[in-house]
Order: sequence, then structure tokens, then C-alpha cells
Amino acid sequence: MTFKLRLAAYILTVGMTLIQPVRAQQATSTVQNPGPQITVDGYTYTQQSLFQRNVGTPDDQTTQFPPHKIIGNIYYVGTGSLSVFLIATPQGNIIINSTYERNIPVILKSVEQLGFKLSDTKILLGSHAHGDHQEGDALFKQVTGAQVMAMAEDVPALDAMKPGGKTHPIDKVLHDGDEVTLGGSTLVAHLTPGHTRGCTTWTTKVQEGGKTYNVVIICSMGVNPGVKLVNNPDVPQIAAEFTRGFETMRSLPCDVPLGSHTTMYNMKEKYAKLEKGGPNPFIDPAGYKVEMDIDEAMFRAILDQQQKAAAGSGGSSNAVR
Ligand SMILES: [Zn+2]
Repeated sequence: MTFKLRLAAYILTVGMTLIQPVRAQQATSTVQNPGPQITVDGYTYTQQSLFQRNVGTPDDQTTQFPPHKIIGNIYYVGTGSLSVFLIATPQGNIIINSTYERNIPVILKSVEQLGFKLSDTKILLGSHAHGDHQEGDALFKQVTGAQVMAMAEDVPALDAMKPGGKTHPIDKVLHDGDEVTLGGSTLVAHLTPGHTRGCTTWTTKVQEGGKTYNVVIICSMGVNPGVKLVNNPDVPQIAAEFTRGFETMRSLPCDVPLGSHTTMYNMKEKYAKLEKGGPNPFIDPAGYKVEMDIDEAMFRAILDQQQKAAAGSGGSSNAVR
């Protein structure tokens, strides 16, 4: 492809992604308070549209996305919007995120289509204690016998997750900075709290074409609609926890950003490029920085709005109205 053609394709891709968040915002703003609006890198999001971008449509949450190799020994075996990653090693595989229980057959199908066996899964890890990422852990363990490991700060929320009455399995409790090693691959668990108290961003290194790349699997730095950043009775320090999370995220070297939701790293656009050949589109350090800029700008905007509202409701400026 000539440079001009590549540039045209790039502009087309950027143009497409530019339209999507705005569309999502229009579609949802009449139904629900869209929350504050931010513009980062030329793209506009509301709290609601960013949330919607991540969770995707009900179809996206349950329909198989073509399984594919991402880079090195990391493969994609999830749905359109809910990421599931397989790390293949000579001593068995690691899976990150079981998603919803009803998606286990989808994951099984994808794992097998890539030539792996689900029963070779030795370790099951998760992004964070929300149903769309870890509801299926108990069933997944029943099927595979995998060891389930979870960040200590997420254990209470995982314990409360009981699909069909099943107890959430936790074979090993992890702490910030702990390493999970299997067959020569090492994953590091980074506590990046805020979205949940034990939100876990996984990092690893992969080799491809004689080079080593830093992979970061973003947990989530999103503030879901309805979450209180100010006067939160359950997590009084939630804003400070988010701030700590962003500091950690910013400190991680990243060549290949991945995330618990596929839109956090523009999976569909990159997959389309993968099909055409050329350099590995998943190598995208700039994309990681943009995603953190979006998430942090939205967090600041929501915090600002809630702080003003809290000050207004308790202050004297309201007395005249
Ligand atoms: Zn979540």
C-alpha cells in the first residue's frame, strides 16, 4: 500500500471512530441523564456514551467475535464487547475473564477454534468483580478445574457473586504487584482501584519478530452512571482510590494496550486491519495514552460536577432559591 492510500485509510478509520461516540450519546441522552461531557483528541463523550461504548449492545455482550491471535502467545476468545484473553504456554493456558456464565460455551468454541483445549486452562484470572467480567468463574472452574486467583480488595465483591447459588471460587488471593507464572509466561497484577476496590490491571511481556513488547490489560478506569465519587457511604475514599489507579496506569510502560471491554483498545478496528496484513495493529502505545486521557478527563469532570452539587446543596448560595 502506498503512503497516500494508507493515509486515506487512516483518515477513514479515524473519521468512523469520531462518529461513533457522538452517535451513542444521541441514542441514549433522551433516555438517561448523559452526565458531563468531555472532548479528548477530537472525540466527544458523555459519561453515559462512554459507559455505553464499553458495555456495547446486548448482542455484542454475548455474540462470539472471531477468535484471533493478538500478539506473541496472547489470543482473543471473547465476545464483541466483553474481552476474554488466552495466554498460551507449554504448561497449559491462562484465561483472563470468564464474563457472564451464559458466555462459557462461546469461550469454549473460540478456544477450540484456535486449536486449544479449554481443559488445558490451568489458571483463571479476572479484571474486576462485576458480573460482565467474572460471573462465569464458578462454572468455568467446574468445567476446567482451573485455579482461580483474585486481588484481595475484590474478594468481598466476588464472594457476593453467586450465580445460581454457586459459591465464587477463589483458590489464591493476590496483592498489588504479585506475579502469576506459568510455562515461562509471567503476568503481574497491578491494583488500579476506583471502578472496583480490587480492579486489576494485568501486565506481561511478549515476543514477536525478535522484539519484546509490554502488554497492558486495562481493568477499567470508568465511572459508571450512578456511582458517587463524593459522599460515598460504601467507599468514602473512592475519589482518592481512582486517583491512585490513574497514577499506577500512567506509570505502566505500554506497547500493546488491551482491556476488559474491547472498545478500550478499539479491537474491532484493529482486527479489521489485522485481516489485511502489514504491521501488527495491536501495537499502539499512543492508543493507550489516549484511552487514559479519556478516562481521566471524564473522572475529573464527574468529580467536579458532584463536588459542586454537594457544595451547592449544603451551602448558603441555595438559600435564596
Ligand atoms: Zn465494571
